[in-house]
Amino acid sequence: MEKDKITRRAAMTCAAALPIAAGLGSTGPARAQAAQGPQVPRTYRVPLGDFEVTAMMAGTRTVPDPQGTFGTNASEEEFAEVSKAAHIPTDKAQFFFTPTLVNTGSAVILFDTGLDPAGIVAAVEAAGYAADDVTHVVLTHMHGDHIGGLSDGGTPTFANAELLAGQEEWDHWSAAGNETFDGKVRPLGDSFSFLTTGGQVAPGITAVLAPGHTPGHMCFMLESGGQKMMLTADLANHYVWSVGKPDWEVRFDMDKQLAASSRRKILGTLAEEKIPFIGYHMPFPAIGYVEAEGDGFRYIPHSYQLLMT
Ligand SMILES: [Zn+2]
Repeated sequence: MEKDKITRRAAMTCAAALPIAAGLGSTGPARAQAAQGPQVPRTYRVPLGDFEVTAMMAGTRTVPDPQGTFGTNASEEEFAEVSKAAHIPTDKAQFFFTPTLVNTGSAVILFDTGLDPAGIVAAVEAAGYAADDVTHVVLTHMHGDHIGGLSDGGTPTFANAELLAGQEEWDHWSAAGNETFDGKVRPLGDSFSFLTTGGQVAPGITAVLAPGHTPGHMCFMLESGGQKMMLTADLANHYVWSVGKPDWEVRFDMDKQLAASSRRKILGTLAEEKIPFIGYHMPFPAIGYVEAEGDGFRYIPHSYQLLMT
């Protein structure tokens, strides 16, 4: 099993290296076309006590008109000012989708499943695991970019995994008449266990209700060997516009006031206790810290704090 995996990965590495090897023997212009496009790493792994936490890039794309989504209640001038101060444009933004894999030593737990089955399986394999290695799949909430990879027409992507989700979240979507939920999640209903706030996924992994984005949206606190990290999912979906301005309304937040109050509360705790977090839509590898600043917070991307042994 392990040998198969290594062989397959080695084969993929060789295949990926071919164009470069071919380029070595060619003349200058072929290599100077610069047509490869941007490169973003696929996985980023950090230790956390006895756990290993892998952020996985399951998708990234450029999206126009960010103020149609973030800061819909801010003036165009203020949006421009805040964006300019952060060196980002106002006419487009880069979106990221970052499921996270936590290996506790006795369980391999996947948090959220990206956009589709092929994408999440590729991400899990890039992190060094097979889909069948995943023992638990936890859904932070049930928007399409988090449940999309859970199943294909009711066939589970992770055949050996126990499924977990928030009770409030399940209750909402199972009554909502939502096509994606009905296609991806409802057929697996019998395999789910449900969590309420304070519930444990495994020893050291605790559910924290953070509603507003959706009615039962959950964050998860990881704790091992005296170290903490929070998976904040969609609590705050942009590192400048949502972290810096928690009260700026986000189109996808179903209850905008409640979402803002959850942001303030949880970002406040992360800032006070200097706890690192992984935000599902933060720029990859999506790991960072927050610090209180003005009426909001400042995002500080992880550099090497968690890499030191
Ligand atoms: Zn999302």
